[in-house]
Amino acid sequence: MEKVLNYIGGELVPAKGGQWLDKPEPATGALYAHVPDSREEDVHSAVEAARRAFPAWSALPATERSRMLRRIAGLIHERLDAFARAESIDTGKPLSVARTVDIPRSVVNFEFFADAATQFASEAHAMDGVALNYTLRSPLGVVGCISPWNLPLYLLTWKIAPALAIGNCVVAKPSEVTPMTAFLLSQVCRDAGLPPGVLNLVHGLGPNVGGPLTRHPDVSAISFTGSTRTGAEIARVAAPAFKKLSLEMGGKNPNVIFADCDFDEALSTTLRSSFANQGQICLCGPRIFVQRPLYARFKEALVARTQALKVGDPLVEGTDQGALVSREHFEKVLGYIDLAKQEGGHVLTGGQRAKVPGRCEQGWFVEPTLVEGLSSSCRTNQEEIFGPVATLMPFDDEEEVLAWANSTRYGLAGSVWTKDLTRAHRFASRLHSGIVWVNTWMLRDLRTPFGGVKDSGVGREGGWDALRFFTEPKNVCIKL
Ligand code: NAD
Repeated sequence: MEKVLNYIGGELVPAKGGQWLDKPEPATGALYAHVPDSREEDVHSAVEAARRAFPAWSALPATERSRMLRRIAGLIHERLDAFARAESIDTGKPLSVARTVDIPRSVVNFEFFADAATQFASEAHAMDGVALNYTLRSPLGVVGCISPWNLPLYLLTWKIAPALAIGNCVVAKPSEVTPMTAFLLSQVCRDAGLPPGVLNLVHGLGPNVGGPLTRHPDVSAISFTGSTRTGAEIARVAAPAFKKLSLEMGGKNPNVIFADCDFDEALSTTLRSSFANQGQICLCGPRIFVQRPLYARFKEALVARTQALKVGDPLVEGTDQGALVSREHFEKVLGYIDLAKQEGGHVLTGGQRAKVPGRCEQGWFVEPTLVEGLSSSCRTNQEEIFGPVATLMPFDDEEEVLAWANSTRYGLAGSVWTKDLTRAHRFASRLHSGIVWVNTWMLRDLRTPFGGVKDSGVGREGGWDALRFFTEPKNVCIKL
């Protein structure tokens, strides 16, 4: 049995109350780890450790903090196999995905912000010979980072790397559903020689750990990624204390395919954007709109490609689709497939629990599922399912599909497929969305702003936006 520990003040420790949470393996349903069931007192210790570490860490030259982040990146890279295996077992995602996407990107997150911190600059504004203003940017102090289960190390490091690089100390709360790679990260930080208290990781349930972290008076900012419901709760608690907030939340992204697209590219990418990571990526495009002249051909080809996906043991080479992350989530996704049927949807392929014989017989697998015949306004097409379930809808013209694409409460990301560049620009500008891809999906330049509009988020991550979030600007005005 594996045992996860908190990382507080440089030490690996259990929760003070001595309580543990059970952590099952999604692919088998069997228990495989115990996780600290931490409470307010553990959060207090972590914030106190971070507060003590802040003066020395923030006073280091950026180049030294940068060197430390690179050391951490290097150790994760050296231990890539162990990290990838832990991520795969913890989440149910194919080992190949953890090895080629999750862990390499976590390494890059540290490397990217190690560089960025040494390149960061602030503004100066000259007032026509009267005065000169310049902006000083200082780290905030102790910041809280709260992350979800779908890309555990990837999204955790995407927050803590910029926060640390620019001189803050961090108390992070990884998802209780997938704590393992955060635990491996704490071991890496100890081996890298990160000073005690600079980064602290407290494991446990959201309300028990994330709640006290959000409320804590010595925590200046919360960077959160997760569901819109939790984001709203964090905003409710943090707003009266005037904490800085960055909220990256849910999505129900449109994937709009015009008849003049590159068919093969649109098809292959749509397969990925529907089912990558079992559809558990906030950027997935589960609402697939296809222009009517192409609809029948596209549907037939997509169904065939979907049926060819191999659902299986995440640890076996060649598996395309692993397990869903938890029993609760598995039941939620199957519930949405039932809802789609009740709403008049026709299941084109999938629609059931997937049976994976042998070791994974009891695992939480769902067949990749395509549904057609639903209106854009039904619940299946409005609510976030966050699983391997996508719907296909034909459309006639640009105005119609734009209205449907914009019709949900969310606005995280969207894809548009067309060879008509004028239309692509026009459509991209009119989509209510923080991110738009034209003829691609999930291509990311880490310097660009990342985040959503409407109920998908407030604030932006990535590049300078992340470093600006984790610093406080002060204007200094000098009379000439
Ligand atoms: P979640 O909201 O249930 O949990 C996210 C984190 O918040 C966890 O660490 C959880 O323990 C913590 N939490 C729960 N209650 C809390 C509280 N009261 N106070 C403080 N923290 C609390 O989300 P999830 O189920 O882990 O992740 C899936 C969701 O995340 C989906 O909605 C998905 O769209 C979203 N997501 C968004 C992005 C993005 O960049 N916009 C990226 C990945 C996932």
